[in-house]
Amino acid sequence: MKLPFDLREIKRGDFSYLTRRKLKNASDEETGEIVLWKWKEKEASEYVLRCPFCQTEQQGEVTLVKRPYRVRCTSCNRSIILPKLLSQAKKEAKKRG
Ligand SMILES: [Zn+2]
Repeated sequence: MKLPFDLREIKRGDFSYLTRRKLKNASDEETGEIVLWKWKEKEASEYVLRCPFCQTEQQGEVTLVKRPYRVRCTSCNRSIILPKLLSQAKKEAKKRG
């Protein structure tokens, strides 16, 4: 998937977090993927997504408030749950310092 920025040009501290996760379809196969990040000065998180159900690649913004976190595919309109996504992302951010 293509990101709207060049990871090599991102400075430490630009993001609150950045994480990449595989997403499973209804048959429990990893057919999709999401990269989710949050700029420090922004309220909403941004993502690029390959829907595990219909394979459409898309880009969007979401404010993650209530667990389980989820995004909706703009193509097939299915709700995609992001299990443990943010806790994992925070852990990664902490590790990076
Ligand atoms: Zn879809």
